[in-house]
Amino acid sequence: MSDMAMTANDRSIMNTYQRLPLTLTRGKGSYVWTDQEEKFLDYTSGIATLNLGHIPPEVHGKLTEQMDQLWHCSNLFDIPAQQALATKLTELSCFTQSFFCNSGAEANEAAIKLAKKYAKDQGNSERTEIVSFTESFHGRTGTTLAATAQEKIHQGFTPITPGFRYLPFNDIESIDEIHNGKTTAVILELVQGEGGVRPANKEWVQKIAKLCSQEDILLIVDEVQTGAGRTGALFAYEQFEIEPDVMTLAKGLGSGFPVGAMLAKEHVATSFQPGTHGSTFGGNPLAMTAALATIETISQPNILQNVQRQSEKIFSELASWDRKFSFIKDVRGKGLLIGIEMDGAVHDFLKTLRGYNILVLVAGPNVIRILPPLNTSDEEVNYFLTTLYEVFIAQEKEVSL
Ligand SMILES: *Cc1c(COP(=O)(O)O)cnc(C)c1O
Repeated sequence: MSDMAMTANDRSIMNTYQRLPLTLTRGKGSYVWTDQEEKFLDYTSGIATLNLGHIPPEVHGKLTEQMDQLWHCSNLFDIPAQQALATKLTELSCFTQSFFCNSGAEANEAAIKLAKKYAKDQGNSERTEIVSFTESFHGRTGTTLAATAQEKIHQGFTPITPGFRYLPFNDIESIDEIHNGKTTAVILELVQGEGGVRPANKEWVQKIAKLCSQEDILLIVDEVQTGAGRTGALFAYEQFEIEPDVMTLAKGLGSGFPVGAMLAKEHVATSFQPGTHGSTFGGNPLAMTAALATIETISQPNILQNVQRQSEKIFSELASWDRKFSFIKDVRGKGLLIGIEMDGAVHDFLKTLRGYNILVLVAGPNVIRILPPLNTSDEEVNYFLTTLYEVFIAQEKEVSL
Protein backbone atom coordinates (compact mmCIF):
# COMPACT_ATOMS: atom_id res chain seq x y z
CA MET A 1 0.00 0.00 0.00
CA SER A 2 1.38 3.42 -0.88
CA ASP A 3 2.05 5.87 1.89
CA MET A 4 -0.59 8.26 0.59
CA ALA A 5 -3.17 5.51 0.07
CA MET A 6 -6.77 6.56 -0.42
CA THR A 7 -8.99 5.22 2.30
CA ALA A 8 -12.49 4.02 1.48
CA ASN A 9 -14.40 7.06 2.70
CA ASP A 10 -12.25 9.45 0.70
CA ARG A 11 -14.51 8.88 -2.31
CA SER A 12 -17.27 11.06 -0.88
CA ILE A 13 -14.88 13.82 0.20
CA MET A 14 -13.42 16.14 -2.41
CA ASN A 15 -9.90 15.18 -3.20
CA THR A 16 -8.17 18.31 -1.88
CA TYR A 17 -5.77 16.71 0.62
CA GLN A 18 -3.09 14.06 0.55
CA ARG A 19 -3.85 12.20 3.73
CA LEU A 20 -1.55 10.06 5.82
CA PRO A 21 -2.65 6.47 6.50
CA LEU A 22 -3.45 7.22 10.15
CA THR A 23 -6.79 7.80 11.87
CA LEU A 24 -6.45 9.84 15.05
CA THR A 25 -9.20 9.29 17.57
CA ARG A 26 -7.90 10.71 20.83
CA GLY A 27 -5.47 13.37 22.03
CA LYS A 28 -4.03 14.56 25.34
CA GLY A 29 -1.29 17.13 25.77
CA SER A 30 1.51 16.46 23.29
CA TYR A 31 0.22 13.00 22.37
CA VAL A 32 -2.36 11.48 20.03
CA TRP A 33 -3.68 7.95 19.71
CA THR A 34 -4.88 6.20 16.56
CA ASP A 35 -7.89 3.92 16.14
CA GLN A 36 -5.33 1.11 16.57
CA GLU A 37 -4.36 2.58 19.98
CA GLU A 38 -0.93 3.50 18.70
CA LYS A 39 0.51 6.53 20.53
CA PHE A 40 2.37 9.36 18.75
CA LEU A 41 4.26 12.44 19.91
CA ASP A 42 2.36 15.12 17.99
CA TYR A 43 4.82 17.78 16.85
CA THR A 44 2.43 18.94 14.13
CA SER A 45 0.09 20.54 16.68
CA GLY A 46 -2.74 20.43 14.14
CA ILE A 47 -0.63 22.76 11.92
CA ALA A 48 0.25 25.26 14.67
CA THR A 49 -3.28 25.39 16.07
CA LEU A 50 -2.96 23.32 19.25
CA ASN A 51 -0.51 25.66 20.95
CA LEU A 52 -1.36 24.26 24.39
CA GLY A 53 -1.49 20.67 23.17
CA HIS A 54 -4.61 18.53 22.88
CA ILE A 55 -7.54 19.37 25.17
CA PRO A 56 -5.78 21.80 27.53
CA PRO A 57 -7.62 21.70 30.89
CA GLU A 58 -7.74 25.53 31.18
CA VAL A 59 -9.69 25.72 27.93
CA HIS A 60 -11.68 22.53 28.41
CA GLY A 61 -13.15 23.76 31.68
CA LYS A 62 -14.30 27.13 30.29
CA LEU A 63 -15.59 25.59 27.10
CA THR A 64 -17.70 22.94 28.84
CA GLU A 65 -19.20 25.65 31.10
CA GLN A 66 -20.08 27.70 28.02
CA MET A 67 -21.50 24.59 26.32
CA ASP A 68 -24.20 24.48 28.99
CA GLN A 69 -24.99 28.21 28.68
CA LEU A 70 -25.19 29.40 25.07
CA TRP A 71 -23.58 28.21 21.86
CA HIS A 72 -24.49 30.86 19.34
CA CYS A 73 -26.55 34.03 19.20
CA SER A 74 -25.20 36.08 16.21
CA ASN A 75 -23.63 39.51 16.31
CA LEU A 76 -27.04 41.18 16.58
CA PHE A 77 -26.56 40.79 20.34
CA ASP A 78 -23.88 41.69 22.85
CA ILE A 79 -21.48 38.80 23.39
CA PRO A 80 -19.69 39.18 26.75
CA ALA A 81 -16.95 36.66 25.89
CA GLN A 82 -16.25 38.57 22.66
CA GLN A 83 -15.96 41.82 24.61
CA ALA A 84 -13.67 40.14 27.14
CA LEU A 85 -11.41 38.70 24.43
CA ALA A 86 -11.24 42.02 22.56
CA THR A 87 -10.30 43.81 25.78
CA LYS A 88 -7.67 41.18 26.58
CA LEU A 89 -6.13 41.38 23.10
CA THR A 90 -5.91 45.18 23.24
CA GLU A 91 -4.29 45.03 26.69
CA LEU A 92 -1.72 42.58 25.35
CA SER A 93 -0.93 44.29 22.03
CA CYS A 94 -0.47 47.68 20.36
CA PHE A 95 -3.92 47.47 18.74
CA THR A 96 -7.16 49.04 19.94
CA GLN A 97 -9.93 47.17 18.08
CA SER A 98 -10.68 43.61 17.01
CA PHE A 99 -12.93 42.00 14.43
CA PHE A 100 -13.63 38.27 14.82
CA CYS A 101 -14.09 35.66 12.12
CA ASN A 102 -13.49 31.94 11.67
CA SER A 103 -10.18 31.36 9.88
CA GLY A 104 -6.88 32.82 8.78
CA ALA A 105 -8.01 33.52 5.23
CA GLU A 106 -11.07 35.33 6.54
CA ALA A 107 -8.94 37.43 8.87
CA ASN A 108 -6.75 38.43 5.92
CA GLU A 109 -9.82 39.14 3.78
CA ALA A 110 -10.99 41.50 6.52
CA ALA A 111 -7.58 43.20 6.66
CA ILE A 112 -7.49 43.64 2.87
CA LYS A 113 -10.99 45.12 2.83
CA LEU A 114 -10.08 47.43 5.70
CA ALA A 115 -6.95 48.64 3.87
CA LYS A 116 -8.91 49.44 0.71
CA LYS A 117 -11.60 51.27 2.65
CA TYR A 118 -9.01 53.18 4.67
CA ALA A 119 -7.39 54.58 1.49
CA LYS A 120 -10.78 55.83 0.26
CA ASP A 121 -11.64 57.32 3.65
CA GLN A 122 -8.32 59.19 3.62
CA GLY A 123 -9.16 60.65 0.20
CA ASN A 124 -6.49 58.45 -1.45
CA SER A 125 -8.78 56.61 -3.85
CA GLU A 126 -5.88 56.14 -6.31
CA ARG A 127 -4.28 53.84 -3.72
CA THR A 128 -5.74 50.50 -4.72
CA GLU A 129 -2.75 48.16 -4.50
CA ILE A 130 -1.42 45.91 -1.78
CA VAL A 131 2.17 44.68 -1.76
CA SER A 132 3.01 41.14 -0.66
CA PHE A 133 6.20 39.08 -0.88
CA THR A 134 7.53 36.06 -2.74
CA GLU A 135 6.89 32.65 -1.09
CA SER A 136 4.24 34.16 1.18
CA PHE A 137 1.05 32.37 2.17
CA HIS A 138 -2.08 34.29 3.08
CA GLY A 139 -4.91 31.84 2.36
CA ARG A 140 -6.94 30.02 -0.27
CA THR A 141 -9.96 32.26 -0.84
CA GLY A 142 -10.32 34.18 -4.12
CA THR A 143 -8.61 37.28 -2.78
CA THR A 144 -6.13 35.79 -0.31
CA LEU A 145 -4.76 33.45 -2.98
CA ALA A 146 -3.98 36.57 -4.99
CA ALA A 147 -2.22 38.05 -1.94
CA THR A 148 -0.19 34.83 -1.80
CA ALA A 149 2.82 35.37 -4.06
CA GLN A 150 3.23 31.76 -5.19
CA GLU A 151 2.63 30.80 -8.79
CA LYS A 152 1.53 27.27 -7.88
CA ILE A 153 -1.31 28.61 -5.70
CA HIS A 154 -2.61 30.79 -8.58
CA GLN A 155 -2.49 28.04 -11.17
CA GLY A 156 -5.91 27.19 -12.59
CA PHE A 157 -7.61 30.14 -10.91
CA THR A 158 -6.90 32.94 -13.34
CA PRO A 159 -8.00 35.64 -13.63
CA ILE A 160 -6.97 36.17 -10.01
CA THR A 161 -8.21 39.16 -7.99
CA PRO A 162 -6.32 42.23 -9.22
CA GLY A 163 -4.62 44.78 -6.97
CA PHE A 164 -1.67 42.80 -5.63
CA ARG A 165 1.96 43.51 -6.41
CA TYR A 166 4.78 41.17 -5.40
CA LEU A 167 8.26 42.08 -4.22
CA PRO A 168 11.12 39.78 -3.17
CA PHE A 169 11.03 38.70 0.49
CA ASN A 170 13.88 39.95 2.71
CA ASP A 171 15.26 42.13 -0.09
CA ILE A 172 16.39 45.48 1.28
CA GLU A 173 17.12 46.89 -2.20
CA SER A 174 13.52 46.71 -3.43
CA ILE A 175 11.86 48.31 -0.39
CA ASP A 176 11.62 51.69 -2.16
CA GLU A 177 9.41 50.06 -4.79
CA ILE A 178 6.68 49.68 -2.17
CA HIS A 179 5.78 53.35 -2.50
CA ASN A 180 4.68 54.02 -6.07
CA GLY A 181 1.71 56.25 -5.22
CA LYS A 182 -0.76 53.38 -5.66
CA THR A 183 0.02 51.29 -2.58
CA THR A 184 -2.42 51.34 0.32
CA ALA A 185 -0.92 48.48 2.34
CA VAL A 186 1.85 45.93 2.73
CA ILE A 187 1.04 42.45 4.02
CA LEU A 188 3.78 40.16 5.30
CA GLU A 189 4.56 37.18 7.50
CA LEU A 190 7.28 37.71 10.10
CA VAL A 191 8.24 34.07 9.72
CA GLN A 192 6.94 32.62 6.46
CA GLY A 193 5.32 29.34 7.51
CA GLU A 194 3.93 27.43 4.53
CA GLY A 195 6.56 29.02 2.27
CA GLY A 196 9.36 27.09 4.01
CA VAL A 197 9.83 28.45 7.57
CA ARG A 198 11.71 31.59 6.56
CA PRO A 199 12.16 34.27 9.22
CA ALA A 200 12.02 37.84 8.01
CA ASN A 201 15.18 39.86 8.46
CA LYS A 202 14.69 42.34 11.31
CA GLU A 203 16.35 45.24 9.51
CA TRP A 204 14.22 44.62 6.40
CA VAL A 205 11.02 44.59 8.48
CA GLN A 206 11.99 47.73 10.38
CA LYS A 207 12.78 49.60 7.16
CA ILE A 208 9.42 48.61 5.72
CA ALA A 209 7.68 49.73 8.92
CA LYS A 210 9.44 53.09 8.73
CA LEU A 211 8.56 53.65 5.08
CA CYS A 212 4.94 52.63 5.72
CA SER A 213 4.54 55.06 8.59
CA GLN A 214 6.17 57.92 6.60
CA GLU A 215 3.92 57.39 3.59
CA ASP A 216 0.71 56.44 5.45
CA ILE A 217 0.81 52.96 3.94
CA LEU A 218 -0.72 50.36 6.25
CA LEU A 219 1.53 47.61 7.55
CA ILE A 220 -0.46 44.39 7.95
CA VAL A 221 1.33 41.55 9.71
CA ASP A 222 -0.16 38.13 8.97
CA GLU A 223 0.42 36.39 12.31
CA VAL A 224 -2.00 33.58 11.54
CA GLN A 225 0.83 31.08 12.14
CA THR A 226 3.32 33.11 14.22
CA GLY A 227 0.81 34.65 16.67
CA ALA A 228 -0.40 33.27 20.01
CA GLY A 229 3.03 32.52 21.44
CA ARG A 230 4.44 30.35 18.66
CA THR A 231 7.66 32.36 18.19
CA GLY A 232 8.37 32.93 21.90
CA ALA A 233 6.58 36.28 22.22
CA LEU A 234 2.81 36.50 22.41
CA PHE A 235 2.96 38.16 18.98
CA ALA A 236 6.02 37.97 16.72
CA TYR A 237 5.92 41.67 15.84
CA GLU A 238 7.16 42.42 19.40
CA GLN A 239 10.41 40.61 18.59
CA PHE A 240 10.89 42.82 15.52
CA GLU A 241 10.34 45.95 17.63
CA ILE A 242 7.76 47.43 15.28
CA GLU A 243 4.16 48.55 15.68
CA PRO A 244 2.09 47.37 12.74
CA ASP A 245 -1.26 49.02 11.90
CA VAL A 246 -3.10 45.74 11.45
CA MET A 247 -2.52 42.15 12.59
CA THR A 248 -4.33 38.94 11.68
CA LEU A 249 -4.54 35.87 13.92
CA ALA A 250 -6.15 32.46 13.63
CA LYS A 251 -4.31 29.14 13.89
CA GLY A 252 -3.20 29.11 17.53
CA LEU A 253 -5.89 31.43 18.83
CA GLY A 254 -8.53 28.90 19.86
CA SER A 255 -6.65 25.72 20.83
CA GLY A 256 -8.12 24.01 17.76
CA PHE A 257 -11.49 25.72 17.87
CA PRO A 258 -12.02 27.53 14.53
CA VAL A 259 -11.53 31.24 15.16
CA GLY A 260 -9.80 34.16 13.46
CA ALA A 261 -9.24 37.79 14.37
CA MET A 262 -8.20 41.00 12.66
CA LEU A 263 -6.83 43.67 14.99
CA ALA A 264 -6.18 47.29 14.08
CA LYS A 265 -5.22 50.62 15.53
CA GLU A 266 -8.06 53.06 16.10
CA HIS A 267 -7.41 55.48 13.19
CA VAL A 268 -7.61 52.51 10.80
CA ALA A 269 -10.31 50.53 12.57
CA THR A 270 -12.85 53.36 12.22
CA SER A 271 -13.03 52.62 8.48
CA PHE A 272 -15.25 49.67 9.39
CA GLN A 273 -18.77 50.77 10.31
CA PRO A 274 -22.09 48.89 10.56
CA GLY A 275 -22.71 47.32 7.17
CA THR A 276 -19.12 47.41 5.87
CA HIS A 277 -18.09 43.97 7.09
CA GLY A 278 -19.54 41.07 9.03
CA SER A 279 -19.70 37.35 9.72
CA THR A 280 -22.50 35.02 10.84
CA PHE A 281 -20.41 32.78 13.02
CA GLY A 282 -17.48 35.11 13.70
CA GLY A 283 -17.03 35.91 17.38
CA ASN A 284 -19.67 33.49 18.64
CA PRO A 285 -19.77 32.59 22.35
CA LEU A 286 -18.13 29.16 21.99
CA ALA A 287 -15.26 30.37 19.80
CA MET A 288 -14.68 33.43 21.98
CA THR A 289 -14.63 31.35 25.15
CA ALA A 290 -12.06 28.98 23.63
CA ALA A 291 -9.90 31.88 22.43
CA LEU A 292 -10.13 33.85 25.68
CA ALA A 293 -9.09 30.86 27.79
CA THR A 294 -6.29 30.09 25.31
CA ILE A 295 -4.89 33.63 25.29
CA GLU A 296 -5.19 33.97 29.06
CA THR A 297 -3.12 30.79 29.44
CA ILE A 298 -0.53 31.50 26.74
CA SER A 299 0.08 35.03 27.97
CA GLN A 300 1.28 33.68 31.33
CA PRO A 301 5.07 34.05 31.54
CA ASN A 302 5.70 30.34 32.15
CA ILE A 303 4.42 29.34 28.70
CA LEU A 304 6.49 31.89 26.76
CA GLN A 305 9.53 31.06 28.91
CA ASN A 306 9.07 27.41 28.01
CA VAL A 307 8.91 28.27 24.31
CA GLN A 308 12.20 30.16 24.58
CA ARG A 309 13.89 27.45 26.62
CA GLN A 310 12.83 24.51 24.44
CA SER A 311 13.55 26.51 21.31
CA GLU A 312 17.11 27.29 22.43
CA LYS A 313 17.63 23.65 23.28
CA ILE A 314 16.38 22.41 19.90
CA PHE A 315 18.23 25.04 17.86
CA SER A 316 21.54 24.55 19.68
CA GLU A 317 21.27 20.78 19.32
CA LEU A 318 20.44 21.03 15.60
CA ALA A 319 23.29 23.52 15.11
CA SER A 320 25.74 21.06 16.66
CA TRP A 321 24.72 18.43 14.06
CA ASP A 322 25.07 20.82 11.17
CA ARG A 323 28.36 19.56 9.78
CA LYS A 324 27.75 15.94 10.69
CA PHE A 325 24.97 15.41 8.19
CA SER A 326 25.65 16.26 4.58
CA PHE A 327 21.94 16.43 3.74
CA ILE A 328 21.05 19.26 6.18
CA LYS A 329 21.12 22.45 4.13
CA ASP A 330 19.73 24.90 6.65
CA VAL A 331 18.10 25.10 10.08
CA ARG A 332 15.88 28.12 10.65
CA GLY A 333 12.79 29.50 12.34
CA LYS A 334 11.83 31.25 15.53
CA GLY A 335 10.59 29.94 18.86
CA LEU A 336 8.81 26.65 18.30
CA LEU A 337 8.27 27.17 14.57
CA ILE A 338 11.29 25.29 13.30
CA GLY A 339 12.36 24.26 9.81
CA ILE A 340 15.12 21.92 8.66
CA GLU A 341 15.83 22.36 4.97
CA MET A 342 17.04 19.12 3.47
CA ASP A 343 18.93 18.31 0.34
CA GLY A 344 15.99 16.57 -1.37
CA ALA A 345 12.44 15.49 -0.59
CA VAL A 346 11.55 14.89 3.05
CA HIS A 347 8.60 12.51 2.84
CA ASP A 348 10.75 9.46 3.57
CA PHE A 349 12.13 11.08 6.73
CA LEU A 350 8.64 11.81 7.96
CA LYS A 351 7.66 8.22 7.31
CA THR A 352 10.70 6.95 9.20
CA LEU A 353 9.89 9.26 12.11
CA ARG A 354 6.34 7.90 12.19
CA GLY A 355 7.95 4.51 12.65
CA TYR A 356 9.36 5.94 15.91
CA ASN A 357 5.93 7.37 16.83
CA ILE A 358 6.73 10.98 16.06
CA LEU A 359 4.61 13.25 13.85
CA VAL A 360 6.08 16.33 12.16
CA LEU A 361 5.13 18.30 9.04
CA VAL A 362 6.59 19.53 5.80
CA ALA A 363 6.73 23.10 4.51
CA GLY A 364 7.26 22.90 0.79
CA PRO A 365 8.91 19.74 -0.58
CA ASN A 366 12.30 20.03 1.16
CA VAL A 367 11.66 21.44 4.61
CA ILE A 368 10.81 19.45 7.73
CA ARG A 369 8.54 21.70 9.81
CA ILE A 370 8.55 21.03 13.56
CA LEU A 371 5.70 22.50 15.59
CA PRO A 372 5.73 21.27 19.20
CA PRO A 373 3.01 22.49 21.55
CA LEU A 374 4.23 25.55 23.46
CA ASN A 375 4.08 23.62 26.74
CA THR A 376 6.05 20.62 25.52
CA SER A 377 8.19 19.06 28.28
CA ASP A 378 11.95 18.45 28.58
CA GLU A 379 11.32 14.73 28.33
CA GLU A 380 9.37 15.09 25.08
CA VAL A 381 11.98 17.38 23.54
CA ASN A 382 14.75 14.96 24.55
CA TYR A 383 12.93 12.00 23.04
CA PHE A 384 12.35 13.97 19.87
CA LEU A 385 15.98 15.07 19.50
CA THR A 386 17.43 11.65 20.33
CA THR A 387 15.15 9.97 17.81
CA LEU A 388 15.75 12.51 15.07
CA TYR A 389 19.49 12.05 15.60
CA GLU A 390 19.21 8.28 15.21
CA VAL A 391 17.17 8.67 12.03
CA PHE A 392 19.73 11.09 10.61
CA ILE A 393 22.66 8.79 11.54
CA ALA A 394 20.96 5.92 9.69
CA GLN A 395 20.38 8.18 6.69
CA GLU A 396 23.99 9.41 6.67
CA LYS A 397 25.20 5.80 6.57
CA GLU A 398 22.97 5.16 3.58
CA VAL A 399 24.21 8.29 1.80
CA SER A 400 27.86 7.38 2.32
CA LEU A 401 27.44 3.79 1.10
C1 LIG B 1 -2.62 28.97 7.56
C2 LIG B 1 -2.35 30.36 7.17
C3 LIG B 1 -3.34 31.16 6.57
C4 LIG B 1 -4.69 30.62 6.19
O1 LIG B 1 -5.43 30.22 7.30
P1 LIG B 1 -6.77 29.34 7.12
O2 LIG B 1 -7.32 29.26 8.50
O3 LIG B 1 -6.34 28.03 6.56
O4 LIG B 1 -7.65 30.09 6.19
C5 LIG B 1 -3.03 32.48 6.30
N1 LIG B 1 -1.83 33.00 6.61
C6 LIG B 1 -0.87 32.26 7.18
C7 LIG B 1 0.43 32.91 7.53
C8 LIG B 1 -1.08 30.92 7.48
O5 LIG B 1 -0.11 30.19 8.02
